[in-house]
Amino acid sequence: MPKLELHNLNKTYNPQVIPVKDVSVGVDEGEFLTLLGPSGCGKSTLLRLIAGLEQPTRGKVVLSGRDVTKVRPGDRNIAMVFQSYALYPHMTVYENIAAGLKLRKISTEEIRQRVQEVVGKLGLEHLMDRKPGQMSGGQRQRVALGRALVRKPDVFLLDEPLSNLDALLREQVRADLKQLFATQKAPVVYVTHDQTEAMTLSTKVAVLFEGDVQQLDEPQRIYTQPANQFVAGFVGSPQMNLLTLSCQGNHALLGEFKISLPNLAQVPPQIVLGIRPEDVSFAKPEDQQTIQGRIFLVENLGMQNLISVRVKGSDSITIRALLPLNLTWSEEEVTLAIPPQSIHWFDVKTGDRIANRPD
Ligand code: ADP
Ligand code: MG
Repeated sequence: MPKLELHNLNKTYNPQVIPVKDVSVGVDEGEFLTLLGPSGCGKSTLLRLIAGLEQPTRGKVVLSGRDVTKVRPGDRNIAMVFQSYALYPHMTVYENIAAGLKLRKISTEEIRQRVQEVVGKLGLEHLMDRKPGQMSGGQRQRVALGRALVRKPDVFLLDEPLSNLDALLREQVRADLKQLFATQKAPVVYVTHDQTEAMTLSTKVAVLFEGDVQQLDEPQRIYTQPANQFVAGFVGSPQMNLLTLSCQGNHALLGEFKISLPNLAQVPPQIVLGIRPEDVSFAKPEDQQTIQGRIFLVENLGMQNLISVRVKGSDSITIRALLPLNLTWSEEEVTLAIPPQSIHWFDVKTGDRIANRPD
C-alpha cells in the first residue's frame, strides 16, 4: 500500500474553474513525485488538498492507510515548503528551524540534537544566529528546507521551492535537494513548472494540464513515450517539432516528401507528426527517409546550433534540427534525415499518441 494515496480528488471553486479533476495517484516511501505543468494547471491546489489547507469537492486523501481527508492540517504530520520560504523574520535560523518542534512539546535536548543534525546536512552551522533578513535567497531556502526536515514528517510537500532563486543557484540547490531527499524515506510531492527539475529530481512525474493528469510515468518515459501531444510539446527543450500533415495512401505529406505512416487500422485524413530537434540530422547516403529544405534561421545555443528549415514544397512547414557546432554546411539548401524510429504520431482530434516508438 503506498504511503500517500489520492483517490479521485476533485476541487471546484465555481463551474468555470475546475483546478483539480479526478486525480488518483499513489506515492510510496522513497519515491519522489513531481507535479509538472504550466502556470494555473492546478498544481498548488492539489498540493494544498494533500496538506489539508483546502477541502476537496470530492475524493479522499489517505496517509499511512488512514483517511485524513477531514483531518486538520496540523494533525496530518506533513511538512510543506513554499516558494516564498515563509520564515519568521524576527527569529534566528536556530529558532526558525526549532519552532515547529517547540509547539509539539519535544524536550529542549532533543530539539537541540535534531536541529544540529539538520543544519549539518544543509551547511547552515555558521549561520545559526542570523535572522532571515541577513541571509541570501539560497540560504533562506535552506532554512525553509531545514524546518521541514527537522519535523520527520510522513510526507514532504514542496511548492516551486527553487523559483525565487537565480538560474545558477537554482542548479546548485537542485543538486543539493536530490542528494538530501535520497537519504529520506518519507515520500516527496514536488510542484514545478520547470521540466529540468522534474526530469532530474523525480522517480515519477505527473504531467498536469487544466487539472487533469495527462501522463503519470518515469521521467525518461515522459520524454521518450509522451502519451499525447500536450506532453510531447511541454517536455523537451528545444520543443519537439509537431506538424499537422495530410495523409495520402500509407504516407503523410511533408511538403513534397512522403513520410511512411505506422500500421493503422484506418488511415485518417490528417495526422500529427512529432520529432525532436535532436533526432533530426543532416542526411547521410544510407538514410532511408529524407526531406529537403532551406535554412532560414541559425541559433547558436553554445553547445549546439539550432537550425530552422523551411521544407521544400510548402510555404509554412518548418522543421528545427539541433546539430553539433562543428557540423557546417555550404549552402542554404540542405537534406535532412527523418528517421522513422524517432517519429511520434498523434491523433489530430484527441491529441493522443497513436503509435509506439521503441525506447
Ligand atoms: P498552479 O499552481 O498550477 O499555477 P493553482 O492550483 O494555483 O495553479 O490554480 C489552478 C486554478 O484554480 C487557476 O485557474 C486559479 O485561478 C484557480 N484558483 C486557485 N485558487 C482559487 C480560489 N481560491 N478561488 C477561485 N479560483 C482559484
Ligand atoms: Mg502554484
